[in-house]
Amino acid sequence: MPTIAHRLKQIYTQIHQAEHTFSRVPNSVQLLAVSKTKPAQAIISAYQAGQRHFGENYVQEALLKQQELSALAITWHFIGPIQSNKTKVLATHFDWVHSVDNLKIAQRLSSQRPNFLPPLNVCVQVNISDETSKSGVTLNDLPELILGISELPNLNLRGVMAIPAPHADFAAQREPYQQLVSAVKALNNPNLTTFSFGMSDDLDAAIAEGSTLVRIGTALFGARRKLL
Ligand SMILES: *Cc1c(COP(=O)(O)O)cnc(C)c1O
Repeated sequence: MPTIAHRLKQIYTQIHQAEHTFSRVPNSVQLLAVSKTKPAQAIISAYQAGQRHFGENYVQEALLKQQELSALAITWHFIGPIQSNKTKVLATHFDWVHSVDNLKIAQRLSSQRPNFLPPLNVCVQVNISDETSKSGVTLNDLPELILGISELPNLNLRGVMAIPAPHADFAAQREPYQQLVSAVKALNNPNLTTFSFGMSDDLDAAIAEGSTLVRIGTALFGARRKLL
């Protein structure tokens, strides 16, 4: 089985190849290593190979790993669904939250962000293409939410995040991302520079459509036992 260091290298090769193929600026796509359900040792392996940004979905699990890895200079991203009773922990222990999809949660994150930390980086999760998913704001409601979040003092609004329904077909993978990017560009908001989309199975389609941050779990750490 290839090592995590080896797979990390392969993923960077794939990212750089896709940047080239789709005429993206070299090194304009960042890799977020999604380590949910994986042990701290897996994170250490990726860290030793140069990876610094890690994404987690479950608060309790993330806190345990953060404690174990507190000596490492990791930037922690939260990418899972947000329960309102977890906002204080998120505001205290993460550098980024990608899954903000309503103003109440955003207000709580802002008011609970400790003063000794810089503003919390946030992305708005947008629900594109998938009626079955309850997470994410609709494209219709996106402009109003963006305006509301922009007024919160302890949040730094960075961009948008999306998890479209899976498709095997390349053109079908590109379509929702294309929709999202054109909707965001139409807002003309200079703060919205992070496009957090693309996972192990649709990395190339995401980069083709303008992703600036791909969130990769399986291709880096191997299959997960639990779903999600
Ligand atoms: C699990 C997860 C990923 C990573 O998915 P893979 O298919 O394993 O690369 C990315 N983003 C979110 C929000 C996830 O929950």
